[in-house]
Amino acid sequence: MTYVIVEACRSEKAASCVRVCPVDCIRPTTDDAEFNETEQLYIDPDACIDCGACVAECPVDAIYADHQLPAGMEHMIAVNAAHFRK
Ligand code: SF4
Repeated sequence: MTYVIVEACRSEKAASCVRVCPVDCIRPTTDDAEFNETEQLYIDPDACIDCGACVAECPVDAIYADHQLPAGMEHMIAVNAAHFRK
């Protein structure tokens, strides 16, 4: 299992989730050069430990467990994973 960031992040990019992640698996951070250009933030599915700490931090409810994604958002599992295979 992993958590997944969906398109709602694209209007916000608050990055408050980054600060609470115990394994530092959300990218890009505000310190990364690509932050201003990225469409949204992404969760590394290989590093996420499924703690759920990031969910409550998101001001636009853009983070879901992969098995609890709303209908029509399932493709975001692959979108998040693809960010870390670049
Ligand atoms: Fe990080 Fe936990 Fe969120 Fe996974 S669920 S991205 S480990 S804060």
